[in-house]
Amino acid sequence: ECASNRTIKIAVIGAGGVGKTALVVRFLTRRFIGDYERNAGNLYSREVQVDGGEQVAIQVQDTPGVDMTGNGLSLPDHVTCSIQWADAVVLVYSVTDRSSFDLISQLHQLVSRAGGANLPPVILLANKADLLHMRQVDSQQGPVLASALGCSFYEVSASEDYSQVHGAFHRLCCLMAKQQPA
Ligand code: GDP
Repeated sequence: ECASNRTIKIAVIGAGGVGKTALVVRFLTRRFIGDYERNAGNLYSREVQVDGGEQVAIQVQDTPGVDMTGNGLSLPDHVTCSIQWADAVVLVYSVTDRSSFDLISQLHQLVSRAGGANLPPVILLANKADLLHMRQVDSQQGPVLASALGCSFYEVSASEDYSQVHGAFHRLCCLMAKQQPA
């Protein structure tokens, strides 16, 4: 059949060091690789099985960290391109990094702006939930922000829990597959 005609394109965006690469690698390979060559910017292609058993092609774009500068938010061109390219966006912060959480609203605005009339589906991931003693963002704050932004929320740990990470990405893929019928 012609399932391969469509590719679901997902961009993963957030501050540096929040675990974007770790999450993408974990989702796609099941493995957590703590120490690897920095490979932010990689585009990964895979097939995933969505609800109903259909195989769909996905592409996941890992992006370099976006950080605040003295002048505000500096969004590398590469990241802007990724947002425009994407059918869906995964915004990531780390529960151990308050500033990465504070960045999310602005990133969401930039995504909205880039998406124009068709706001791409966005999900919010709070990563590094395993690092209890280093927590700077408490677990109520994520859901509050997500509902203000109108997106789904998942608190996950790339290092400790494959099924949470898989569940978050997989649900997004299922949603996208439904929205883009073959
Ligand atoms: P990126 O810059 O957002 O792509 O972040 P990385 O994926 O490179 O991760 C930054 C660091 O955080 C690396 O040392 C990872 O091993 C570590 N890391 C990523 N996710 C987790 C997690 O869920 N728990 C813990 N404890 N460490 C993590």
